Amino acid sequence: MFGLKTDWHPDVPQRSFTLESYEGGVARWCPSCGDHGILSAVQRICRDEQIPPEQVVAVSGIGCSGRFPHYMHAYGFHSLHGRALPVACGIKVRRPDLQIWVATGDGDCCSIGAGHWLHAVRYNMDMTVMLLDNSVYGLTKKQTSPTTPVGLATNTHPEGAWLPPLNVVETVLGFTNISFVAKTVDWNPAHMYQTLHAAYCHRGLSFVQILQRCPTYTPHIFDEWRGNPDSIRLLVHEDGVPADPPVAKMYRNHVEHDPSDLDRARQLAADAERIPIGLLYRNPDAPRYEDFTARGLGMPTDEKLAALDRELDRFAI
Ligand code: SF4
Ligand code: MG
Repeated sequence: MFGLKTDWHPDVPQRSFTLESYEGGVARWCPSCGDHGILSAVQRICRDEQIPPEQVVAVSGIGCSGRFPHYMHAYGFHSLHGRALPVACGIKVRRPDLQIWVATGDGDCCSIGAGHWLHAVRYNMDMTVMLLDNSVYGLTKKQTSPTTPVGLATNTHPEGAWLPPLNVVETVLGFTNISFVAKTVDWNPAHMYQTLHAAYCHRGLSFVQILQRCPTYTPHIFDEWRGNPDSIRLLVHEDGVPADPPVAKMYRNHVEHDPSDLDRARQLAADAERIPIGLLYRNPDAPRYEDFTARGLGMPTDEKLAALDRELDRFAI
Protein backbone atom coordinates (compact mmCIF):
# COMPACT_ATOMS: atom_id res chain seq x y z
CA MET A 1 0.00 0.00 0.00
CA PHE A 2 1.01 3.65 -0.57
CA GLY A 3 3.44 2.28 -3.16
CA LEU A 4 6.20 1.74 -0.52
CA LYS A 5 9.02 -0.53 -1.60
CA THR A 6 9.70 -3.21 0.99
CA ASP A 7 13.36 -3.64 -0.05
CA TRP A 8 14.26 -0.04 0.84
CA HIS A 9 17.35 0.50 3.07
CA PRO A 10 18.55 3.74 4.63
CA ASP A 11 21.51 5.17 2.77
CA VAL A 12 24.07 5.08 5.60
CA PRO A 13 27.23 6.89 4.59
CA GLN A 14 30.39 4.84 4.93
CA ARG A 15 32.64 6.11 7.74
CA SER A 16 36.07 7.27 6.82
CA PHE A 17 38.87 8.35 9.09
CA THR A 18 41.51 11.04 8.83
CA LEU A 19 44.57 11.65 10.97
CA GLU A 20 42.47 13.95 13.14
CA SER A 21 40.21 10.98 13.95
CA TYR A 22 43.05 9.55 16.09
CA GLU A 23 44.39 12.74 17.65
CA GLY A 24 43.87 12.97 21.39
CA GLY A 25 45.26 15.58 23.78
CA VAL A 26 48.10 17.91 22.83
CA ALA A 27 51.31 15.93 23.30
CA ARG A 28 53.32 17.34 26.19
CA TRP A 29 56.57 15.53 25.51
CA CYS A 30 59.65 17.80 25.25
CA PRO A 31 60.17 19.53 21.89
CA SER A 32 62.05 17.24 19.45
CA CYS A 33 61.41 14.19 21.62
CA GLY A 34 61.29 11.08 19.43
CA ASP A 35 57.97 10.08 20.97
CA HIS A 36 56.17 12.66 18.81
CA GLY A 37 57.22 10.86 15.63
CA ILE A 38 56.27 7.45 17.02
CA LEU A 39 52.80 8.76 17.88
CA SER A 40 52.43 10.17 14.35
CA ALA A 41 53.47 6.86 12.81
CA VAL A 42 50.83 4.96 14.78
CA GLN A 43 48.15 7.51 13.89
CA ARG A 44 49.11 7.27 10.22
CA ILE A 45 48.89 3.47 10.27
CA CYS A 46 45.44 3.66 11.90
CA ARG A 47 44.37 6.15 9.21
CA ASP A 48 45.88 4.16 6.35
CA GLU A 49 44.26 0.96 7.58
CA GLN A 50 40.99 2.83 8.32
CA ILE A 51 40.68 1.27 11.77
CA PRO A 52 37.64 2.72 13.57
CA PRO A 53 38.99 4.59 16.64
CA GLU A 54 36.68 2.60 18.90
CA GLN A 55 38.52 -0.54 17.75
CA VAL A 56 41.91 0.83 18.84
CA VAL A 57 43.36 0.53 22.35
CA ALA A 58 46.61 2.17 23.44
CA VAL A 59 48.15 0.71 26.59
CA SER A 60 51.16 1.97 28.53
CA GLY A 61 53.02 1.65 31.80
CA ILE A 62 54.87 4.49 33.55
CA GLY A 63 57.48 6.81 32.08
CA CYS A 64 57.54 9.30 29.24
CA SER A 65 56.13 6.53 27.02
CA GLY A 66 53.29 6.19 29.51
CA ARG A 67 51.73 9.39 28.13
CA PHE A 68 51.04 7.68 24.81
CA PRO A 69 47.36 6.69 25.40
CA HIS A 70 46.49 10.29 26.38
CA TYR A 71 47.44 11.50 22.93
CA MET A 72 45.46 8.93 20.96
CA HIS A 73 41.77 9.45 20.31
CA ALA A 74 40.98 5.81 21.07
CA TYR A 75 40.44 3.64 24.09
CA GLY A 76 43.45 3.74 26.40
CA PHE A 77 44.87 2.42 29.63
CA HIS A 78 47.74 4.23 31.38
CA SER A 79 48.63 1.46 33.79
CA LEU A 80 51.25 0.92 36.50
CA HIS A 81 55.02 0.77 36.22
CA GLY A 82 56.01 -2.28 34.20
CA ARG A 83 52.42 -3.49 33.88
CA ALA A 84 51.47 -2.46 30.35
CA LEU A 85 51.83 -5.98 28.99
CA PRO A 86 49.62 -7.88 31.47
CA VAL A 87 46.94 -5.19 31.05
CA ALA A 88 47.16 -5.52 27.27
CA CYS A 89 46.94 -9.32 27.51
CA GLY A 90 43.89 -9.01 29.77
CA ILE A 91 42.17 -6.76 27.24
CA LYS A 92 42.97 -9.20 24.44
CA VAL A 93 41.57 -12.12 26.39
CA ARG A 94 38.11 -10.56 26.53
CA ARG A 95 38.18 -8.47 23.35
CA PRO A 96 40.27 -10.27 20.74
CA ASP A 97 38.63 -8.06 18.09
CA LEU A 98 40.42 -4.89 19.29
CA GLN A 99 43.70 -3.58 17.84
CA ILE A 100 46.15 -3.09 20.68
CA TRP A 101 49.20 -0.81 20.65
CA VAL A 102 51.47 -1.04 23.67
CA ALA A 103 53.92 1.80 24.38
CA THR A 104 56.52 0.92 26.96
CA GLY A 105 60.00 2.16 27.82
CA ASP A 106 63.41 0.66 28.48
CA GLY A 107 62.99 1.10 32.24
CA ASP A 108 59.31 0.16 32.25
CA CYS A 109 59.66 -3.01 30.14
CA CYS A 110 63.20 -4.26 30.68
CA SER A 111 63.53 -3.60 34.41
CA ILE A 112 60.46 -3.66 36.65
CA GLY A 113 58.34 -5.19 33.88
CA ALA A 114 60.84 -7.80 32.75
CA GLY A 115 58.89 -10.75 34.16
CA HIS A 116 55.77 -9.66 32.28
CA TRP A 117 57.84 -9.00 29.15
CA LEU A 118 59.08 -12.59 29.01
CA HIS A 119 55.63 -14.12 29.46
CA ALA A 120 53.66 -11.71 27.28
CA VAL A 121 56.03 -12.48 24.41
CA ARG A 122 55.53 -16.19 25.08
CA TYR A 123 51.71 -15.79 25.12
CA ASN A 124 52.05 -14.27 21.64
CA MET A 125 48.67 -12.51 21.76
CA ASP A 126 47.95 -10.36 18.72
CA MET A 127 49.20 -6.85 19.54
CA THR A 128 51.95 -4.41 18.60
CA VAL A 129 54.46 -3.73 21.36
CA MET A 130 56.69 -0.68 20.92
CA LEU A 131 59.69 -0.35 23.18
CA LEU A 132 60.51 3.36 23.18
CA ASP A 133 64.17 3.05 24.08
CA ASN A 134 65.92 6.29 25.04
CA SER A 135 68.43 4.44 27.26
CA VAL A 136 67.45 6.27 30.43
CA TYR A 137 64.59 6.84 32.86
CA GLY A 138 63.43 10.16 31.41
CA LEU A 139 60.30 10.98 33.37
CA THR A 140 62.15 10.76 36.68
CA LYS A 141 64.97 12.90 35.29
CA LYS A 142 67.80 10.66 34.16
CA GLN A 143 68.47 7.55 36.16
CA THR A 144 70.41 4.60 34.75
CA SER A 145 68.11 2.15 32.94
CA PRO A 146 68.89 -1.38 31.71
CA THR A 147 69.95 0.03 28.31
CA THR A 148 72.09 2.94 29.47
CA PRO A 149 75.48 2.78 27.73
CA VAL A 150 78.62 2.33 29.82
CA GLY A 151 80.09 5.68 30.81
CA LEU A 152 76.93 7.78 30.52
CA ALA A 153 76.66 9.98 33.62
CA THR A 154 73.23 9.76 35.21
CA ASN A 155 71.72 10.80 38.53
CA THR A 156 72.20 7.31 39.91
CA HIS A 157 75.71 6.93 38.44
CA PRO A 158 77.19 10.45 38.31
CA GLU A 159 80.57 9.06 37.29
CA GLY A 160 79.06 7.02 34.50
CA ALA A 161 77.01 3.84 34.22
CA TRP A 162 79.37 0.91 34.48
CA LEU A 163 77.38 -2.27 33.83
CA PRO A 164 77.12 -3.47 30.22
CA PRO A 165 73.70 -2.51 28.82
CA LEU A 166 71.06 -5.06 27.95
CA ASN A 167 70.89 -5.86 24.25
CA VAL A 168 67.11 -5.71 23.89
CA VAL A 169 66.55 -7.57 20.62
CA GLU A 170 69.16 -10.18 21.43
CA THR A 171 67.34 -10.77 24.72
CA VAL A 172 63.90 -11.13 23.09
CA LEU A 173 65.33 -13.49 20.50
CA GLY A 174 66.18 -15.80 23.41
CA PHE A 175 62.59 -15.90 24.70
CA THR A 176 60.23 -18.78 24.01
CA ASN A 177 57.50 -18.71 21.34
CA ILE A 178 58.59 -15.43 19.74
CA SER A 179 56.75 -14.56 16.54
CA PHE A 180 57.91 -11.09 15.38
CA VAL A 181 61.01 -9.17 16.48
CA ALA A 182 62.11 -5.98 14.74
CA LYS A 183 64.17 -2.88 15.35
CA THR A 184 63.98 0.63 13.96
CA VAL A 185 65.06 4.21 14.72
CA ASP A 186 62.78 7.18 15.28
CA TRP A 187 64.98 9.54 13.23
CA ASN A 188 64.07 7.67 10.08
CA PRO A 189 60.26 8.08 9.93
CA ALA A 190 59.92 6.11 6.68
CA HIS A 191 61.65 3.03 8.07
CA MET A 192 59.85 3.36 11.39
CA TYR A 193 56.47 3.56 9.63
CA GLN A 194 57.19 0.50 7.49
CA THR A 195 58.43 -1.47 10.49
CA LEU A 196 55.42 -0.60 12.65
CA HIS A 197 53.09 -1.28 9.73
CA ALA A 198 54.60 -4.73 9.23
CA ALA A 199 54.26 -5.28 12.98
CA TYR A 200 50.60 -4.27 12.87
CA CYS A 201 49.92 -6.62 9.94
CA HIS A 202 51.53 -9.59 11.68
CA ARG A 203 49.11 -11.77 13.62
CA GLY A 204 50.68 -12.43 17.02
CA LEU A 205 52.76 -10.32 19.40
CA SER A 206 54.97 -8.03 17.35
CA PHE A 207 57.84 -6.64 19.36
CA VAL A 208 59.57 -3.56 17.96
CA GLN A 209 62.50 -1.85 19.66
CA ILE A 210 62.60 1.79 18.60
CA LEU A 211 65.75 3.75 19.35
CA GLN A 212 64.16 6.95 20.57
CA ARG A 213 65.83 10.32 20.85
CA CYS A 214 65.64 12.08 24.19
CA PRO A 215 67.11 15.54 23.56
CA THR A 216 66.66 16.46 27.20
CA TYR A 217 68.66 13.71 28.91
CA THR A 218 70.51 11.61 26.31
CA PRO A 219 71.00 13.99 23.38
CA HIS A 220 74.17 12.40 21.98
CA ILE A 221 73.89 8.66 22.54
CA PHE A 222 72.79 7.92 18.96
CA ASP A 223 75.18 10.41 17.31
CA GLU A 224 77.36 7.73 15.77
CA TRP A 225 74.46 5.94 14.07
CA ARG A 226 72.72 9.16 13.08
CA GLY A 227 75.87 10.74 11.70
CA ASN A 228 77.16 7.65 9.94
CA PRO A 229 74.37 5.65 8.26
CA ASP A 230 76.99 3.12 7.13
CA SER A 231 77.24 1.98 10.75
CA ILE A 232 73.66 0.69 10.45
CA ARG A 233 72.80 -2.59 8.75
CA LEU A 234 69.57 -2.44 6.81
CA LEU A 235 67.96 -5.87 6.83
CA VAL A 236 66.36 -6.62 3.50
CA HIS A 237 64.34 -9.62 2.32
CA GLU A 238 61.15 -10.25 0.40
CA ASP A 239 59.54 -11.41 3.70
CA GLY A 240 61.01 -8.55 5.72
CA VAL A 241 60.21 -4.88 6.20
CA PRO A 242 59.90 -3.21 2.78
CA ALA A 243 62.55 -0.53 2.32
CA ASP A 244 61.42 2.57 0.42
CA PRO A 245 63.99 3.67 -2.21
CA PRO A 246 65.17 6.70 -0.14
CA VAL A 247 65.68 4.43 2.89
CA ALA A 248 67.55 1.86 0.83
CA LYS A 249 69.71 4.64 -0.61
CA MET A 250 70.47 6.20 2.76
CA TYR A 251 71.57 2.93 4.38
CA ARG A 252 73.99 1.42 1.88
CA ASN A 253 75.01 -1.37 4.21
CA HIS A 254 72.32 -3.88 3.13
CA VAL A 255 72.18 -7.32 4.66
CA GLU A 256 70.01 -9.95 3.01
CA HIS A 257 68.37 -11.68 5.96
CA ASP A 258 65.64 -14.31 5.85
CA PRO A 259 63.51 -13.54 8.95
CA SER A 260 62.73 -17.24 9.45
CA ASP A 261 66.43 -17.84 10.27
CA LEU A 262 66.60 -17.53 14.06
CA ASP A 263 70.29 -18.36 14.42
CA ARG A 264 71.27 -15.67 11.94
CA ALA A 265 68.88 -13.21 13.62
CA ARG A 266 70.67 -13.81 16.91
CA GLN A 267 74.07 -13.26 15.29
CA LEU A 268 72.93 -9.98 13.74
CA ALA A 269 71.31 -8.78 16.96
CA ALA A 270 74.45 -9.48 18.98
CA ASP A 271 76.50 -6.97 16.98
CA ALA A 272 76.08 -3.84 19.09
CA GLU A 273 78.42 -1.79 16.90
CA ARG A 274 76.70 -2.18 13.53
CA ILE A 275 73.11 -2.26 14.65
CA PRO A 276 70.60 -4.07 12.44
CA ILE A 277 67.32 -2.35 11.58
CA GLY A 278 64.37 -4.12 10.05
CA LEU A 279 62.78 -7.50 10.68
CA LEU A 280 65.04 -9.86 12.60
CA TYR A 281 62.66 -12.74 13.11
CA ARG A 282 59.15 -13.79 12.18
CA ASN A 283 57.27 -17.01 12.77
CA PRO A 284 53.60 -16.72 11.72
CA ASP A 285 52.91 -20.25 13.03
CA ALA A 286 53.79 -19.61 16.69
CA PRO A 287 50.72 -20.50 18.83
CA ARG A 288 48.65 -17.53 20.07
CA TYR A 289 47.17 -17.70 23.54
CA GLU A 290 43.97 -15.86 22.57
CA ASP A 291 43.07 -18.74 20.26
CA PHE A 292 42.61 -20.67 23.52
CA THR A 293 41.15 -17.94 25.74
CA ALA A 294 38.59 -16.89 23.12
CA ARG A 295 36.80 -20.22 23.44
CA GLY A 296 33.25 -19.70 24.67
CA LEU A 297 33.34 -15.91 24.19
CA GLY A 298 30.22 -16.01 22.00
CA MET A 299 28.19 -18.10 24.49
CA PRO A 300 24.90 -16.65 25.69
CA THR A 301 24.68 -15.94 29.44
CA ASP A 302 22.59 -18.98 30.38
CA GLU A 303 24.99 -21.31 28.58
CA LYS A 304 27.93 -19.64 30.30
CA LEU A 305 26.29 -20.09 33.72
CA ALA A 306 25.52 -23.72 32.96
CA ALA A 307 29.13 -24.29 31.86
CA LEU A 308 30.37 -22.62 35.05
CA ASP A 309 28.07 -24.79 37.16
CA ARG A 310 29.35 -27.90 35.42
CA GLU A 311 32.95 -26.89 36.14
CA LEU A 312 32.23 -26.04 39.78
CA ASP A 313 30.36 -29.33 40.23
CA ARG A 314 33.59 -31.14 39.46
CA PHE A 315 34.98 -29.83 42.76
CA ALA A 316 31.88 -30.57 44.88
CA ILE A 317 32.60 -32.85 47.82
FE1 SF4 B 1 61.10 12.80 25.54
FE2 SF4 B 1 63.29 12.73 27.05
FE3 SF4 B 1 61.53 14.74 27.32
FE4 SF4 B 1 60.90 12.27 28.12
S1 SF4 B 1 62.52 13.58 28.98
S2 SF4 B 1 59.57 13.66 26.96
S3 SF4 B 1 61.92 10.99 26.57
S4 SF4 B 1 62.80 14.28 25.51
MG1 MG C 1 63.52 5.30 28.93
